[in-house]
Amino acid sequence: MSRSQSSQQVPKRDNSHLPNWVGTFDEASSTGLHALKDNLHDQRVEVKQAKLRCNFCGKAEDNKKPLQCCSLCRTVHYCDRTCQVAHYKPVHKSDCKSFRNIPLCRSFTMDRILPGCKYPESVVFAKGHQEGIGCWVSTSGQIDCTLFQKAGNPLPSKDDASDDNPKTMMDALEAFPFGRAGAYLGLRVMVQNRRQADGKVVVIGNEILAVCTPRGADVLLEGMKPGETNVKIPSDLDNSQPLIGLKQAYIKLENFNGKEVKRTLPALIDGKACSVALSRGDYAIFSVHFRVGGPRITLDFQALEKIAHIQVPWLASDSTPPSLSPKDRKVTKAPMDHSLVASYFEDYRSHGEEAFITSHHGEARAKMISAGQDAVVSLLKQMAIHVGGGGRSMV
Ligand SMILES: [Zn+2]
Ligand SMILES: [Zn+2]
Repeated sequence: MSRSQSSQQVPKRDNSHLPNWVGTFDEASSTGLHALKDNLHDQRVEVKQAKLRCNFCGKAEDNKKPLQCCSLCRTVHYCDRTCQVAHYKPVHKSDCKSFRNIPLCRSFTMDRILPGCKYPESVVFAKGHQEGIGCWVSTSGQIDCTLFQKAGNPLPSKDDASDDNPKTMMDALEAFPFGRAGAYLGLRVMVQNRRQADGKVVVIGNEILAVCTPRGADVLLEGMKPGETNVKIPSDLDNSQPLIGLKQAYIKLENFNGKEVKRTLPALIDGKACSVALSRGDYAIFSVHFRVGGPRITLDFQALEKIAHIQVPWLASDSTPPSLSPKDRKVTKAPMDHSLVASYFEDYRSHGEEAFITSHHGEARAKMISAGQDAVVSLLKQMAIHVGGGGRSMV
């Protein structure tokens, strides 16, 4: 979009068909909302200013000479090759291969606890790796834990003209009635190639599945929408029933090596299938939505506890462009950590929504939710998740 187009006047909207709170939003955007915006701004500044330190000697990065990261895992940084070599054998070698740590990426920062909170805002609920391809799964839900009403990108997106993404906050509020229980679970799936071999692997994004637990399938399949399909997956255990894999309702490649993906990029070799070629060390973050809601499931964690694992299909390929021959197809499974799901959402279960929001997202947001501005808070939370990029030079 050109500059002149984007600066055109937007006609005033008729908001009469929207819920009351949307109409009164402007007046009601009290100190709470401003405090929240300031808070998000502070977080961004903090993230930007946080100095990286060399993982071997501890020296802080200086602007003249940026630290360089391990090109295979992107989880550690060093002054130079000497520090890297000194750290590798005694410490880093096993971490690098074990996928213990997530690549450093500002938009996939896990386990950061906000001031006054007891729990982090985001955690990895499922992770796994197979033959050098690792995967981490977190949620991208609403902060009151209700499932999304619609599958798709809920955020206003000025740059992405390729689909029917909302363009303004008002569009988003209209298209996505946040804060009310829907049927879609939003997940963020990070996939990284840490194979020793140089060839690329192709991750087939639109075939990422949420595989139900044997007991959970019936409940997750309730409320199926017309045209919705799922797949039978042979169980790992002998003589047991095949598992049910839920096909996704929406997928988007969100981030590649720390940079937000706006339209397209060379690594996205098939936009329709959301297939991404990962060279050694590359990672991609997908936003994936699954229809899971039914009479018995309205909240994120009610769905998470019925999912056995997330599975990510990929193909090893040495040819360029990589061949998509199905014979080399492999799968990385990320089993859901059900005890983590239970403890992370314990406050909600025992004390309700407000207690959960207070202990995970802070008192200010909990108060705003009870004041009925839940939709706006949900949007802000989405924005917080999408803060920043984070590409760095490599060793
Ligand atoms: Zn150093
Ligand atoms: Zn490494």
